[in-house]
Amino acid sequence: MAALVLLSYEQGNTLRSTSLSTITAALQLEKEVDVLLVGETLNERLDQAIHLNGVRRVLAAKDPSFAHMQAESVANLMASLASDYEFILAPANAEGKNILPRLAGLLDVQPISEVTKIIDKSTFVRPIYAGSLLATVCSKDKKKLLSIRGIAFTPIKTIGGNAEIKEVTLPSPLPENQKSIFLNLKLSQSNRPELEAAKIIISGGRGMQSSDNFTLLEKIADLLNAAIGASRAAVDSGFVSNDFQVGQTGKIVAPELYIAVALSGATQHLAGMKDSKIVVAINKDPDAPIFKASDYGIVGDIFEILPRLEEGLKNRI
Ligand code: FAD
Repeated sequence: MAALVLLSYEQGNTLRSTSLSTITAALQLEKEVDVLLVGETLNERLDQAIHLNGVRRVLAAKDPSFAHMQAESVANLMASLASDYEFILAPANAEGKNILPRLAGLLDVQPISEVTKIIDKSTFVRPIYAGSLLATVCSKDKKKLLSIRGIAFTPIKTIGGNAEIKEVTLPSPLPENQKSIFLNLKLSQSNRPELEAAKIIISGGRGMQSSDNFTLLEKIADLLNAAIGASRAAVDSGFVSNDFQVGQTGKIVAPELYIAVALSGATQHLAGMKDSKIVVAINKDPDAPIFKASDYGIVGDIFEILPRLEEGLKNRI
């Protein structure tokens, strides 16, 4: 049997690096790995996908109902392809989390989410309790549905492959009484690196006090080519939108450098960034828990420290 990986794209035609990591995970399970590419039009994406290293076949599904990765359509398509695969994988991002549970419902199997390690073909490691513990789970299902945490697997190379293309289509038109329909898409525009792929992230918490004060972080982010993140309290306070949120119910990140500014370091926040290579915390409370999770800590008021940090960086860059 083989493994099937659902590809996930950023806006435009950039394949998310979590897709590349998911292929790595699939290759640990099976030698023969196919990828599923869905969309309204595929052209450029298809040209890229056939070169993915280690991929045997690109299943290409072109249909208007795939324009926005609508979960019902994609899950239905995947269910129709499932008989050829023992393993079906997707990145543990919003798309994977939306589609895999539906697919599991259609196939009547138990999905295993947020896999961080593959022990053998039926045994997997995944975090539980906001990442405080790691559970090793053994699946007895004949078909295994896994969502993969990108940061836990090294991405495969995007060159070197020579996959064949197989066109696939939805087995039958979807019923008209679908429970959800696509209405519109509102995108936040940013020239900064994508949060989940950024090498440097500077995140602000409730202590930023306002949305305007996030410009202090933006100035530093511009100097470091960093992405901006936020704690849930900062998001809930309306300082930034929720696509900035890092943590258990936000994005999982593992940059080279994570700068945590005026956030306390709650367990649920740490769950999203504790795999960062170097953590620097700035907080006025010397007892803030974030310092225990940091390599470097600066105790002080951000309104004094951030402008000094910006000046220091300007002089060095
Ligand atoms: P606070 O805890 O209020 O910390 C603010 C910090 O700023 C304090 O340490 C303070 O000393 C410091 N500060 C204030 N002013 C200054 C200043 N001028 N200079 C320097 N320092 C200053 N949280 C997440 O972040 N991500 C998640 O995904 C997430 N998921 C959750 C899921 C569940 C089910 C639950 C229950 C909670 C979740 N939370 C999550 C919320 C989490 O528990 C915390 O409430 C939240 O992370 C706190 O955000 P904060 O650190 O910004 O705020």
